[in-house]
Formats: sequence, C-alpha cells, structure tokens
Amino acid sequence: MPQVLSHQQLLEIANEFGTPLYIYHAERITEQYHRLQEAFKDTDATFFYACKALTNVNVLKHLKHIGCNIDCSSINEVRLALLAGFEPERVLYTSNNIAFSEIEEAVSLGVHVNIDSVSNLQKFGERYGHSYPVGIRLRPNIMAGGNLKISTGHNKSKFGIPVEDIDQVLSVMKEKNLHVRTFHIHTGSEIKDVEVFARGMEVLFDLIRHFPELEVIDLGGGFKVPYTPGEEGTDVERLGKRVKEEFDTIAKKYGRRLKVWFEPGKFLVSEAGYFVVQVNVLKQSGDICFAGVNSGLNHLIRPMFYGSYHHIQNISDPGGKPETYHIVGNVCETDTFAEDRVLPKIKEGDFLVFYNAGAYGFEMASNYNSRFKPAEVLVINNKARLIRRRDTLEDILATQVILKD
Ligand SMILES: *Cc1c(COP(=O)(O)O)cnc(C)c1O
Repeated sequence: MPQVLSHQQLLEIANEFGTPLYIYHAERITEQYHRLQEAFKDTDATFFYACKALTNVNVLKHLKHIGCNIDCSSINEVRLALLAGFEPERVLYTSNNIAFSEIEEAVSLGVHVNIDSVSNLQKFGERYGHSYPVGIRLRPNIMAGGNLKISTGHNKSKFGIPVEDIDQVLSVMKEKNLHVRTFHIHTGSEIKDVEVFARGMEVLFDLIRHFPELEVIDLGGGFKVPYTPGEEGTDVERLGKRVKEEFDTIAKKYGRRLKVWFEPGKFLVSEAGYFVVQVNVLKQSGDICFAGVNSGLNHLIRPMFYGSYHHIQNISDPGGKPETYHIVGNVCETDTFAEDRVLPKIKEGDFLVFYNAGAYGFEMASNYNSRFKPAEVLVINNKARLIRRRDTLEDILATQVILKD
C-alpha cells in the first residue's frame, strides 16, 4: 500500500509552517524508486531522476541517498546535482537547444551528455573527437503523452535530432571519430501505453548496427501517475517485462548486451507532494460558488497551463456535506484550479490540499503579482522539516538594482 500523509498530519504541518505550503513525503519517493527497481530487476536498468520536476537540494540528497541517479535539463541543475553530492558518473545532462558552452562545462564537470542537434554534435566532435563518450538525443516521430504541450517526440517537435537525419549523425561520427555510447529518446510526459516505449525501442534498435560502440538505450521519462481517483498510471511492471524481452532479443540478434536507462521525473515525486492552501473568500455568483484561496497560478500553474487535474480535499472538514465549487486563486489573472468540483462544505479559513503536487509544482512557481513563493517542507523519518523558508520582500528586491537618480 502506498504511504500517504493523513488529513490530520497535513493539517498539523500547515498550522505549524503556514500556507501556501508544499509538503513532500520522502518515504513515498523511496517507495516509487523501489517499485521501479523491482519492476526492472531482470534488466540492466539505471534510473536518472529528471530533477526539473522538483529540485530542492534536500530532495536531491534523498534521491542520491536511496541510490537513484539524476538527469538534468540545464547546467545549473547539473551544478545543483553535484552540490547535492552526486558523483559526476551518476549525473546525466540531456540537452535541448543549449549553447555549446554549456556542453563544454558539462564535459569539464565529467557528467554524461546527450546532444540534441547536428550542429552541437559537430562542435562536440571538433572539440573532443573520440576522447569523451556522447549520447545522441533522437526524435523518433512518435505522438505520445498526456496532451500536445507535453508531447516531445512527434514529427513537429523541437526536441532531438529527427531520426530521418541519422545519416548526418553517421557522417559526423565518421568524420570526427565520435564515441557514440548512448541513444536517447523522450517522447513526452504521462505515457500510459507500454507500446509507446516499445515503438521507441524499435526505432532505436533499427539503428544500432551502424553504431559499434553503442552501450546504452536511454528511453527517457514520461511514466504516468494516477491523477483522478481510480485512474491507473503506467504499468511499469509490464514495461519491465517488455523491456527485458526486447533487450534479450537484441542480445541474441547482434550479440550485444545493451543497458537501459530511464529518466523518470513525475513518477518519482508527483504523488509524494501535497500543496496546502487556505480559503480566503467564498463568493456566490448565480449558481456558482467560488472558493478563493491564498494562492494562484503563481504557485501551481499546471491546471491553467496544461489543463491538468489535481484532486482536492477539504482537510479542515473532510466529513462535511458535499457541495460544488469553482476553486480559484487570488492573482490578477483567471487562475482557475478546478471547476464544478464537489468538495465537503467549505468555510472561509478552511485548509484545502491539492494532491499530486510534487512534480512541476513549486518548480514552476513565480513571484507574479510580487507575491511570495510557497515554503517547502520535507517529511522524512516521520518528522516535518522546513526545506525552503517563505520569501520576504527583501528576496523580491534582492536582484533589483535601484537607481539613485
Ligand atoms: C522532463 C523530462 C523527463 C521527465 O519527464 P516526466 O514526465 O516528469 O517523467 C525526462 N527526460 C527528459 C529529457 C525530460 O526533458
């Protein structure tokens, strides 16, 4: 049974640290990691946590502690990973339209790099030749994922080198004597269908005969987690079996035992996160009842940005009579978290919790309207510990240069 924080625990933590507040449950992250390890125990699989989902250094340290590796989307994330104590060989930098100078920095830090353009690959070849192994981020032309905004592998996507341009990759490899160790794909987020991963493998397997030094197939992230009650996530156990079969077949066919890498973000941290807010105002407008909370798209933008669903509960009175609400924020934009949501009767001052708030929640928060970002708390070994204090006005002013005249 997945571990959950009870309404009572959440309420106590919210009272102690104030709201709006992100709360993460370390043991729940561990549980998800163990589930992956178990599902892939018969394959040579390594998991790199896609840390853009949640980068608080304490969370990174926890993931390091439980043995997970880390995948980064910017050179600053690479720096954070090293600061959290990850050894360079446990850090992967998967690039996306980045300046070559960041790739040089990644190499100087000794981390793995996946390159996503022919132009950067050429520069890489000129600079490093065969001396530094490299991964190629390919675009497999597969449409997958929860919706178009989070789909990254289709034939109009900006991500990766289009697989039809593999000849260009091959000629750079030959010309510059590149050491191509990894093929990478990441087709999107919230991929429920195991067959999507299978199609990705098929595209890559078709190419391996041209790449004699290839050791790793990196299938990216994108495992889906359940959002609505009763919904199902990616069947990682089935995926584990499927990957084993495919890799066994390849081993027989080519006499080569490849490793598989994954870069789960959401899967590891989404369900471990809770976002607690407080209701400022109830407003009746015709037959709509607005519950206006002390937060908005400045703190949790996923519902407005992607139309994502977050389950919400009234933790101050979970047994109250069900009523229908529009849950809205307090910034000067239309920031609707949920429409026509049935919740136990809300009073002003009640605490509401948003579930599945661990991934892309705090990370996408901003100071829009000059409001403070939420604080963050990590529950670890049954203790709630502050891991990011709330902003102050000084924080908001910290990087402004106030002109004197
Ligand atoms: C965002 C991202 C991931 C993680 O995606 P999730 O949907 O959070 O699992 C993995 N790999 C790359 C390259 C990414 O950009």
